[in-house]
Amino acid sequence: METKRPTVHAAEEILGGYFPVLDHGFVALVDYMGSDEDIERAARVSYGFGTRQVSQTRGLVRYLRRHRHTTPSEMVEFKFHCAMPMFVARQWIRHRTASVNELSARYSLMPLLFYRPDASQFKLQSRSNKQGREGGAPDAVYREAIERWERLRTEAGATYRWLLEEDVAREIARIDLPVSTYTQWYWKIDLHNLLHFLSLRVDPRAQWEIQQFARVIAGMVKRVAPISYEAWVDYDLQSEPVTRVEREILARLVDGDDEAIAARDGARVSAAEMQDAGLSPREIRELVEKLRAPERPDFELDISRMETADEMAAKMYEAVPGSFE
Ligand SMILES: Cc1cc2nc3c(=O)[nH]c(=O)nc-3n(C[C@H](O)[C@H](O)[C@H](O)COP(=O)(O)OP(=O)(O)OC[C@H]3O[C@@H](n4cnc5c(N)ncnc54)[C@H](O)[C@@H]3O)c2cc1C
Repeated sequence: METKRPTVHAAEEILGGYFPVLDHGFVALVDYMGSDEDIERAARVSYGFGTRQVSQTRGLVRYLRRHRHTTPSEMVEFKFHCAMPMFVARQWIRHRTASVNELSARYSLMPLLFYRPDASQFKLQSRSNKQGREGGAPDAVYREAIERWERLRTEAGATYRWLLEEDVAREIARIDLPVSTYTQWYWKIDLHNLLHFLSLRVDPRAQWEIQQFARVIAGMVKRVAPISYEAWVDYDLQSEPVTRVEREILARLVDGDDEAIAARDGARVSAAEMQDAGLSPREIRELVEKLRAPERPDFELDISRMETADEMAAKMYEAVPGSFE
């Protein structure tokens, strides 16, 4: 029987496909419910699945997002299967508005897969951002880090195997696996809360590793609900709030009506005047930054990288310590 549920061709193309992330991780969209049209249906509380005009849906979806009328976007749901290093999972799980079911290392055997940062991501502590990295670390340090990690992980894996061989409970055997070990979960979340997650986690201030997962998920959202995705980029991701003082300053510089926005003749506001108006030097730097035109982000999925569930499962099973299953 053919489904009566509304579906989206671009989403169906990737449904159940596994997209590799980092060295052993993945994200798969295993199910979704609804799309942009369902946001419109919910907002209008309308009858049936009648066809909408795209322009009307687009206008409404963008209006709702612009004005923070968010509950209609809670009507669209996403279910993902994801595998990520435990330290990424720990950041991810802070988003409380999702439903999660994680692989139980009390019940199952853990695949012994550990995240090894690529040389390009092996950087020094950032001087300006206590939560960041910058500049390349010396090659010799990277080489030694790899050796040390390998030693630790071989030892941790061997201890895990040995404990299992001695029939020690899985919940105890796993306790010294490092946070670089990959875990997995099913993660279900609605579009409104997913976009909030993405705003925080595709941001360059988020840890690079979780950004890689968020970027793939953003590509999936683009396929399920393209109008909402576009509205998110325009009104959330790349929008910045303009404060009262900033508005005063900008009003001294430009004027506008329905016909045009124009620079006021010879208008200029110096840093000293901005400080007099109430901005701190940091706020002035932030205002200058806000005025730069943003580059449109590209979260397009590379569909040639998509793997099947069987291929991904085979890789995971290979890494499970054998003969104890
Ligand atoms: C760059 C970055 C650095 C971070 N650094 C740290 C850190 O050093 N230490 C640390 O502990 N965390 C850190 N976090 C995690 C951060 O503080 C949040 O816990 C995380 O981003 C989840 O955000 P959220 O609460 O908005 O999301 P969700 O949990 O998904 O919640 C979504 C929204 O629902 C509402 N909400 C949910 N639960 C409640 C509640 N109980 N009460 C009121 N409102 C609620 C809020 O409006 C919230 O914004 C960091 C996050 C980022 C992005």
